[in-house]
Amino acid sequence: KFDGLLDMTKDYEKMFKTEQQKAKDPIKACFMSLVRNEDLYSILPTIRKIEDRFNKNYHYSYVFFNDIAFTEEFKAKTKRIINPESEVHFVTLPKEMWSYPDFIDLNEAAKTREKMKDIIYGSSESYRHMCRFNSKWFYQHPIMDQFDYYWRIEPDTAIYCDMDYDLFEYMNDNKLVYGFSISLHEYESTIPNLWPATKNFVQQRPHYLNNNNFLKFISEDEGNLFNQCHFWSNFEVVNLNFYRSLQYQLYVEYLDKTGIFFYERAGDAPVHSIAAALFLPKESIKYFDSIAYMHPPYTHCPIDDKVYMKYRCDCKQPDDFTFQGYSCGNQYYDALELEKPDGWESFLN
Ligand code: GDP
Ligand code: MN
Repeated sequence: KFDGLLDMTKDYEKMFKTEQQKAKDPIKACFMSLVRNEDLYSILPTIRKIEDRFNKNYHYSYVFFNDIAFTEEFKAKTKRIINPESEVHFVTLPKEMWSYPDFIDLNEAAKTREKMKDIIYGSSESYRHMCRFNSKWFYQHPIMDQFDYYWRIEPDTAIYCDMDYDLFEYMNDNKLVYGFSISLHEYESTIPNLWPATKNFVQQRPHYLNNNNFLKFISEDEGNLFNQCHFWSNFEVVNLNFYRSLQYQLYVEYLDKTGIFFYERAGDAPVHSIAAALFLPKESIKYFDSIAYMHPPYTHCPIDDKVYMKYRCDCKQPDDFTFQGYSCGNQYYDALELEKPDGWESFLN
């Protein structure tokens, strides 16, 4: 099953298209959302901002996934606000991408939901299918095969600055694999076994660790403990070869077999983030300061006036989350030894 997959320790350069390859076969990318019919009026403003601030000049595709069929209304109203030059795909998921695998004990899973009922989404069955889909399935759906990069979008989110360059080309040409806008700490109680399981996986396959990895971002003690820092995956722009790689697929398969999506409440965000931090070179993981973004309750707004003015932003700078205590912006800047923008200290709390 894992034969022929891209091994990122050996074939890292193959994740990106060369100028010659691009000339024949331009970068293809999509906006992707797993979304419910009842989210229609929450996804429309999200799409509108994406179109206005970026995609009206580029016409990248959209892929909407749903565990049930999309309504005609959902399809008509979303298509109406997307530039007609963009392809739009509406996909109903095959059963296996939204159901219990046979190795899961349904009684155990039900007990877990009862035990975790005081944790956010702890009692939800659909939330777990959502996290598992976003961890191990979305990139395996055949509709995604045609794309090199994807940008995940969600209902009730917003972007606040213009993008005057082709983000996907930029990422490819600069060998960037994983782009994020907000990072933060996870609720430890949703993933008690994620780090122990990860350590087991890495012990079995130490050669898969990238020797220029970003462990420093996710651990303060060289990997003994996970500091809960992760990229908030409701926004992420990613080279799909990362998810298609041997490393990622073996890792997520391993995690899945531990039952972590049903016997705990593992989110896709820490799964993506830990994999990125361990298997990618740290320079390929990029914080996009100029991509202002909001997913309730957090906003990322560039506090650097030069950036704010250049990209005609309209977010509220005093709300910026990047350097607040619950964020992991500080860990990111420190781990890469980057200079923080003027005034960052005033956000510490
Ligand atoms: P949160 O961001 O963790 O609070 O979770 P959300 O409620 O925003 O869910 C994350 C994404 O998954 C959103 O795009 C939702 O529309 C989508 N989603 C969540 N549950 C379901 C579901 O049962 N069916 C479908 N089709 N999408 C879902
Ligand atoms: Mn959300």
